Amino acid sequence: MSEGGRHPAAGTPGAFPEIERTLISRERIAQRVHELAARLCDDLRAQKGGVESAAGQVVMVPIMSGAMIFASDLVREMPLKLGLGLVAVSSYPGKSLASKGAVIQSELPADLAGKHVVIVDDILDSGQTIELVRKIIGEQKPASIRACVLLRKDVPRTATTPDEQLAEYVGFDIPDEFVVGYGLDYNGYYRNYPEIATLRKDAL
Ligand code: 5GP
Ligand code: MG
Repeated sequence: MSEGGRHPAAGTPGAFPEIERTLISRERIAQRVHELAARLCDDLRAQKGGVESAAGQVVMVPIMSGAMIFASDLVREMPLKLGLGLVAVSSYPGKSLASKGAVIQSELPADLAGKHVVIVDDILDSGQTIELVRKIIGEQKPASIRACVLLRKDVPRTATTPDEQLAEYVGFDIPDEFVVGYGLDYNGYYRNYPEIATLRKDAL
């Protein structure tokens, strides 16, 4: 960490020359993650039966790999006993930026029956990913399902589920731009960039 708590890479000319501009700073991300975690905890505790009384009732399901950084910050702001079950979904095979629909690439977490499941993803775009994951998790008959996304893009969804039922918790609404950083990649890179940023058009 360099002076002032900035990531050594952020704002350093030459380190990430393809980064165009910051949309959301790390300070705003941290603040919002804190707020989302507090709301999630309140809502989970208010759940009928009370999740505090029954240990291990909450399972967070981050969608890999994009949600890894968001989820790791989020769960550490949640003072609740919870389980973590990862699921891998791909939606941008190869270099294409156009959504090809979502494909599950991993085993699903098992034993979600009767649990309060929180799906965590980096960004809601077409909605295909969250719609698919909600559906297949629903087949295990959990007590409840919610989804929390850091970003929601202002685009027409191809998913048929209305936005409020796709993701109940949304960090930021963003315009229709391709973003990287804080877990989001382009061709596998930039996940470690600490802010949400756009890439120069000539880098895409
Ligand atoms: P959806 O299925 O909603 O179209 O897309 C969700 C997934 O597409 C996200 O989990 C993310 O992996 C990827 N995605 C959508 N928009 C962007 C973007 O602007 N940047 C990056 N890096 N990934 C995106
Ligand atoms: Mg993803």
